[in-house]
Amino acid sequence: KESGRNTYHFFTPELDAKAQAKRAIERDLRKAVQSFDEFHVVYQPIVDIKTGQMKSAEALVRWHSAERGLVSPEQFIPLAERNHLIMPIGEWVLETACREIQDWSRQSQTPFRVSINLSSRQFREQNLPDVVKGVLDRTGFDPNQLSLEITETLMMENLDEALVMLHELKKMGVRLSIDDFGTGYSSLNYLKRFPLDTLKIDRMFVRDVTSNPEDAAMVAAILTMAQSLNLEVVGEGIETLEHNNFLREKGCQLGQGYYYSRPLRIEEFNLFAEKRELE
Ligand code: C2E
Ligand code: CA
Ligand code: CA
Ligand code: CA
Repeated sequence: KESGRNTYHFFTPELDAKAQAKRAIERDLRKAVQSFDEFHVVYQPIVDIKTGQMKSAEALVRWHSAERGLVSPEQFIPLAERNHLIMPIGEWVLETACREIQDWSRQSQTPFRVSINLSSRQFREQNLPDVVKGVLDRTGFDPNQLSLEITETLMMENLDEALVMLHELKKMGVRLSIDDFGTGYSSLNYLKRFPLDTLKIDRMFVRDVTSNPEDAAMVAAILTMAQSLNLEVVGEGIETLEHNNFLREKGCQLGQGYYYSRPLRIEEFNLFAEKRELE
């Protein structure tokens, strides 16, 4: 009892400090979302594991706050989800990525796919197909070149509504990926019901494939299952040649990770792509 009370007294001011810090970040974020001057999008190449050819890229948002420096999306996306800022941020990322990749595709005359992360809030609070359609209309981006990444939790949270929206997006020609696969709770049965094109194996499993037999077995099983469901697979978090070789041997088509490239700003991405073409 004694120590319980002590703990209580000890933690209260700290929790207050944490809550205050959070509120301060929220305030800055709200301000930043008025102009988007402090935001940009980076692109991480997704590569054909067999040929080394770049096939697409994942768009990842960056917030460079004047007061705080670079704030990780793992920090501000959950905040944005709680206070509704994820809607304007999500739409801004979608539009920026479509515009930048569209320009790039035109210049290099190669159609190119871009993958964009969606938050479950965007499903719950917006008519997502309308938002996506608006962006496609404004940018002229080919829906077949757009892939939307969703997570298992997103689908499980509001199954029926999510299904309706996903089917609407598919009808528009947009591709759908399931992100961070293996970290959620979806059963194979659900997986079958969603109109998916791509499955992304979470980097948590890839990390230890060469040292942990259970992770190796898990990745191999996911690949077999994906094959029978006719899904394209991206191995995430490929950091080493060993990761890459393991995934290639098990039949994984696409790879993403520091082994190939970090996420790049659009200018660096142009250079990276040019170099790749010459190789
Ligand atoms: P995610 O969708 O799983 O994105 C992959 C994350 O892994 C990125 O972190 C990327 O930089 C990192 N990564 C890539 N290759 C490697 C590797 O080889 N090793 C390791 N250790 N990490 C690697 P990032 O950019 O910090 O994003 C973190 C998460 O924030 C994303 O995870 C995603 O859930 C969320 N996020 C990022 N941008 C957006 C966005 O525009 N909208 C939404 N809703 N969420 C976003
Ligand atoms: Ca993702
Ligand atoms: Ca992921
Ligand atoms: Ca993740």
